[in-house]
Amino acid sequence: MNQHMPPEPVPLFDIGAQRRRLGKSIDEALARVLAHCQFVSGPEVTALEKALAEFSGARHVVTCASGTDALLMVLMAEGIGRGDAVLCPSFTFCATAEAVALTGATPVLVDVDEATFNLSAASLKAGIATARKHGLKPRAVIPVDLFGQCADHDAIAAVAEAEGLFVLDDAAQGFGASYKGRRLGTLGHATATSFFPTKPLGCYGDGGAIFTDDADLAAKLRSIRVHGQGSDKYDNVRLGLTGRLDTMQAAVLLEKLKIFDDEIAERNRIAERYNRGLGNVVTVPHLAPGCGSVWALYTIRLPRGVERDAFAAALKAKGVPTGIYYPKSIHQQTAYRDFPVADGGLPVSEKLSSDVISLPMHAYLDEPSQDRVIAAVRGAVSA
Ligand SMILES: *Cc1c(COP(=O)(O)O)cnc(C)c1O
Repeated sequence: MNQHMPPEPVPLFDIGAQRRRLGKSIDEALARVLAHCQFVSGPEVTALEKALAEFSGARHVVTCASGTDALLMVLMAEGIGRGDAVLCPSFTFCATAEAVALTGATPVLVDVDEATFNLSAASLKAGIATARKHGLKPRAVIPVDLFGQCADHDAIAAVAEAEGLFVLDDAAQGFGASYKGRRLGTLGHATATSFFPTKPLGCYGDGGAIFTDDADLAAKLRSIRVHGQGSDKYDNVRLGLTGRLDTMQAAVLLEKLKIFDDEIAERNRIAERYNRGLGNVVTVPHLAPGCGSVWALYTIRLPRGVERDAFAAALKAKGVPTGIYYPKSIHQQTAYRDFPVADGGLPVSEKLSSDVISLPMHAYLDEPSQDRVIAAVRGAVSA
């Protein structure tokens, strides 16, 4: 090899490395589905729901077509719609608020905590007051376990209980993480997750799941998943969706779930190594006491005076890709700018959108590659 050739770029996520590790087990799982041909609602779907219930500790698991559908189906099951307000953090992926708006309800955007990037209980209270001022009925809150770290679930539950709000946890990035000894999926009245390929537990296409201890809610979700079916598919008792996870994806997820605990441990080891290598030059992620993370992303904040685009370009030149999650908070997006924001505004969300940047993070990031990332960050910050 030419000595002047830069080394191969470090991947931001590495789905290929995991595919190589799983090898034949995935091929065989898919071959079993190709043999039985039950491509929708096959036995792997039921087996996956049982395995996810065991993994999370939730009583009922309903798999579905995506993380967005998981959120939407719960809101539909709760009868949330026009005239209702659902409180959402603004510093998140748009799907959190999109699911609310699709029901006809109004997302009311609230601010996040500057240290954890997760929903601020104080801003949640302000948002509830804002919703009432707009003549809306506050019905639910969607805390997000952003970048893999658990939200402040106890503080949010206290506000929700006092206000009679339904708590729908958006664990699309956090599934697998634990909060005070409990796995996500058991906090709140229902939890939604996504199996998009780059999420900590991803499939090979789109997929999602809902977790709840409420048997009536689970039964409604199973109906909504198939066009609101009643006693059979052609008895339609409510509005629903084509909301199913397909059997191929369930077969893939069953194999991936077997190594998920090991991958979570690796992600935590890698995050700690980043913290040690970078903690004195940039703001590294802060885990609140009792809050675990599955490190969907490793997101840093740059010191004052370090320009983000120039920093990203300097890393790219060293073969280190970066991502910006999220360059605009939801209330700064065209489609969402007319929805109410909590009184006092959302200064933290706006500040984070302007200075966060995410580094390569996945369970297969080897030490030499991680050392390259660390050296590139240190070099770019001191340049
Ligand atoms: C990915 C994501 C979703 C949506 O999941 P999809 O499976 O892509 O529909 C929702 N909320 C958050 C926070 C996400 O990161």
